[in-house]
Amino acid sequence: MTQATQTIDKTNELKRSMITIRDLAGDEETLQRYNNIKKLNIRSSIYDVTNKCNLRCTGCFFYSSEQDKVASDETDLGKLEDFVLGEKARGVNNAILIGGEPTLFLDRIEVFYKHLPTFCATNGLIKVPRDRFPDMMIGISLWGNDEHEEKLRGKKTFSISLKHYEGDDKVYYLYTITPNNLDVIEEITIKIKNAGLKIHYQLYSNDEDVSGFDWTDEEKEMVKDKMDEMLDKYPETVVSTKYYHQVLVDNEMLGRKWGWNECPSVSLDWDDRDPQPKRLIGFQSFASDLKTIHRCCTSDTRECDSCNDGAAKMSWIMTNKREHMKSPEDFRNWLEVTEMFAKLYQYVPW
Ligand code: SF4
Ligand code: SF4
Repeated sequence: MTQATQTIDKTNELKRSMITIRDLAGDEETLQRYNNIKKLNIRSSIYDVTNKCNLRCTGCFFYSSEQDKVASDETDLGKLEDFVLGEKARGVNNAILIGGEPTLFLDRIEVFYKHLPTFCATNGLIKVPRDRFPDMMIGISLWGNDEHEEKLRGKKTFSISLKHYEGDDKVYYLYTITPNNLDVIEEITIKIKNAGLKIHYQLYSNDEDVSGFDWTDEEKEMVKDKMDEMLDKYPETVVSTKYYHQVLVDNEMLGRKWGWNECPSVSLDWDDRDPQPKRLIGFQSFASDLKTIHRCCTSDTRECDSCNDGAAKMSWIMTNKREHMKSPEDFRNWLEVTEMFAKLYQYVPW
């Protein structure tokens, strides 16, 4: 065999072994979904709008890790606007507002909303006026039914937020599942469905060592099954995917263990990892002075190996796109999670 024939054979063999996106997608509809999603270029960062809150929830990481103490609120709206314009120039196109409770300061939210696609996390006690913020995405934190909420947060916040946002198509509940509220997940999901709203699940990380809130292995398996069951029963209400449930609960993706070396949601200023893992481009988590940078998207003091943060794990899957391009199953898993993320910020409709 000549050298030229050998080269042609090698090229043909390589071509045969290369899987195309079309192969991975398997059908036109999936290919179209992929083409829609790959156009999105979401660049998020997180901002503490304030250190104040109208609740003091047991187990709140913001106060337990003293993130309220590292900086003081920027109260000057002119300075805030300069900052937001700077963030826009830096390439941020998805501002995630947290706190504290951002809705205590609607004028600050308005500055972000004027210049950037904005998502506001809230406990739902204060109704965001839709005439002022017609299309802002709102995520309501939820820790159980009214009984749980009263015990952990001191108020029946679920009933209050349901009344405020019934039928609002730009709102979803972010339900933090604990070993103590797993039994009411269906009751809650049905209430949210009946109110014409959506729900997304994540798992509690017991930063404060709240008694009875540590996960056992059996409970973790149960929670995965329960989340899968809810998704099967209420697909119009539950914004989730089974692969997300699996990675969230197992702390593992494609045979790799979750932890500091893998986390994509570390603030740029804190990221001295070598080698660098796949990460959210330009991601920063700003304290309320809009100068101090938190370590990551969640508690400054949390142990990474046992971190249950759902948003970080979702981003872990999304940023490892190439690693999911090896089989149709991995590809679909990646696509579904990326679509879920885009839905939660309404870059694609529910
Ligand atoms: S509402 Fe949120 S920020 Fe306020 S105390 Fe509860 S968990 Fe913390
Ligand atoms: S605590 Fe969680 S989100 Fe923060 S750096 Fe560690 S793994 Fe990432």
